[in-house]
Order: sequence, then structure tokens, then C-alpha cells
Amino acid sequence: MMRKAVSPIWHPFTQHALQPEMTPVARGDGAYLITRDGRRIIDAIASWWVVTHGHCHPPIVHAIQEQAGQLDQVIFAGHTHEPAEQLAAGLLDLVPPTLAHVFFSDSGATSVEVALKMALGYFRNIGEPRTRIAVMQHSYHGDTIGTMSVGARGVFNAAYEPLLFDVAVVPFPAEGFEQATLDALAAICERDRPAAFIVEPLVLGAGGMLMYPVALLREMHRICKASGVLFIADEVMTGWGRTGTLFACEQAGIAPDIACYAKGLTGGAMPLAVTLCSADIFEAHYSTDRRRTFFHSSSYTANPIACAAACANLALWRQPETHARISAVAAAQERSVARFREDERFSDVRRCGTITALDLHADDEGYLADIGPKLQAFFRDSDVLLRPLGHTIYVMPPYCVTAADLEAIYATIDAAVDHVI
Ligand SMILES: *Cc1c(COP(=O)(O)O)cnc(C)c1O
Repeated sequence: MMRKAVSPIWHPFTQHALQPEMTPVARGDGAYLITRDGRRIIDAIASWWVVTHGHCHPPIVHAIQEQAGQLDQVIFAGHTHEPAEQLAAGLLDLVPPTLAHVFFSDSGATSVEVALKMALGYFRNIGEPRTRIAVMQHSYHGDTIGTMSVGARGVFNAAYEPLLFDVAVVPFPAEGFEQATLDALAAICERDRPAAFIVEPLVLGAGGMLMYPVALLREMHRICKASGVLFIADEVMTGWGRTGTLFACEQAGIAPDIACYAKGLTGGAMPLAVTLCSADIFEAHYSTDRRRTFFHSSSYTANPIACAAACANLALWRQPETHARISAVAAAQERSVARFREDERFSDVRRCGTITALDLHADDEGYLADIGPKLQAFFRDSDVLLRPLGHTIYVMPPYCVTAADLEAIYATIDAAVDHVI
């Protein structure tokens, strides 16, 4: 094979042999990315689900600028700082009172690793070691070995599969099969005595924007509580307004034992993650015996600049305007996606809060493999940033998106599908 000049940079989830050209982005402006040559691209997936209020949102930019000149970074073992303390207090104000402690890290995957370690450490420290984790079919929790282990197996992790640890899998609650999910979870809790059940509340993101009802989330939590299995809510994607409320768990009125937040925690401006846990879990590690220490750290744990960005984000969420914005985006999304509900090219047109998804009808995998790149090329040429998950096209915009932007996004989807079919 003749090799073209290859990039020295190895991009994520990118097959460089099929996609040699990267879009050079120079600036971000609200719901738009602006390329080096001045094209304005609508960011219809919030730059991989992280940007919430919009790119370069002024209050967040300002907080970063201020903090960068004050304290850039400090070791967080044995030290503390104002932005972390203010952020921890602010987070605890927003969540159910059963979540009492905040552990900082730097990515969603790490926040999940921390959650799993907390759950396993809890049972070891109370003298009832448990080693299994229960998960939901089609889940995604990150790309590290540990988080791939609790996520769906497939082409993305086939190379590492022999090294992934074994988990108990609860079937996804597809419409009409909700009871099977609940029965399976109850049976696993009884038989396997897992340390924890980890779940993406209401929407399974990377698994294909699969949605399930609030009542089911509530029931799954009840089953875990009744059998002494810790309930881990991975709100890395669903948090910060995506499902229509600040956190998805709010809709079910449940208080998880452990919750993971990342992506929109800083409004999408800086990498930062937190794992919140109950007092019981913290207490199980609290001891004069050093062996009970929670042995986890990343170099940038609670980076002050990232924490300052997150504090600015929290301030935005204290304003009623932000919540009104979420409702407005959800309503606009519904209006724009509605026309596809009767469209025979699509099935399962769905929405949860500000997220919409639609599945493209296709007969076989080969066909799908072929149209994926074609769709992507069409979107790229139309200056709309969309990245279908297999045959699922979804729209997850920053909240500053306008109804006109959304109309343009869906018109592009319409045209793209006509183009590839
Ligand atoms: C994106 C995502 C993660 C991983 O977060 P990173 O910051 O990419 O490591 C974990 N869980 C869910 C539900 C996600 O959507």
C-alpha cells in the first residue's frame, strides 16, 4: 500500500488510513466552531458531549483567566485551595444529602475507576469483601481497562477482551422487556452479591443514545438498596442538564450511593471530574490504620484552574435563566425532530430532555459500514458537526443553540440521508 504522508498526531477514535484530513479549528464561539479558513461549523454534538452553555462562554473564560494568575496547580495530597473547597461545597448543595464527600479526578473514565475502587474498598474495609460488579447491557463508562470491563464488549475493545474483568450483565430495558431487566437485576443481586451496580441513568450514550423510563431507574435503585448493593450513577454524560434536569437521577427522586460527574462539570472548558459518595463509604476508609487509606490520585487532581471553571459553571446553574434555557432547548429539539417521527427512513425517533436520537433503517451491517463514512463526509461538507453512532444519528447541542441552528441541523440530516440512501 502506498502510504500518504501521515500525521505525527495520533487522533482518538480515528482510523488515519480512512480519514487523513483533520478539520483545523481555530476558535469556538457559542454553538459554533470556526476553522482556520473561516468556515463556521455548527457543533451539534457539543464537542463530544462536553460543552454545555456554549464555546468560550464569557463567565467561564473569565474565571479561568482570573485563576490562572492566582494559583495554577498544587499537589492536592496534604494541601487544599479555595476553588476546590468552594466547588465541593457547591456540588454538595446540588445533590441529595446522602452524598457527603467529593473526590476529584480529571476525566469521566477516572471518575468511574474511582467509583469502582470506592465500592470494592468499602466492602473490603467493612470485612465483607465483594469482587463482582453488575452492569447494564450496552453501557459505556470509558476507555481504560477497568471502565472497558464494566462497559459493552465489541469491536472497540476486542484486542483487550482477554484482560477485561468479568461482570454480571443486566439486559437493557427495551420497550416491553422492562420486567426482565428488573428480574435479572434482582437475581444478580441475590446470587452474585456484587459490590455495586453501575448504570448510566435514563440515557446510555455511546451505546447508541438508548433511552429508558424514569420509573425503571427508580425500580433498579430500589432493588439495589433492598439487597445492600451499592448504586453507582454514571452521570458523566447525563449530568448538567442533558436529560432536562440538572442530573438525571433527580427525575427518579433517587439518591445514588456514588455519583460520577465530568464532561459538563466545567461547562466543557477544562478537564475535571468528581466522584461523590455517601458518608458510609468514606467512613469505611476513615481509620488510623494507613492500610485503609483510599489509594488513588492523578497528578492534576482538583487542578485549581479547572475547579475555578467548574465554580463558574455552578454559579450559572444557580440562575433560573439556565434552567429556562434547558426547557427551551428541549422544546425546540422536540419541534425540530417531530417531523421525522412519521418518516419511513427512520425508526425509534426519541428524545430525552435536550438529547434527540433517530435510527436509520438499514438492512445489513455491510450497508451500515458503508453509509457511516458517507454520512460523515456529507455532514463535514455541510459544516455541521455530527458523528453518528453506527446507524444512530443524534443531536446533543450546546444550550446556546438557536431554533434556527436546530432547523439547519435537521435539514442537513434530512439531506444527508437522502444523499446516502
Ligand atoms: C464519556 C463518558 C465517560 C468517559 O469520560 P471521559 O472523560 O471521556 O473519560 C464515562 N461514562 C459515560 C457515561 C460517558 O458518556
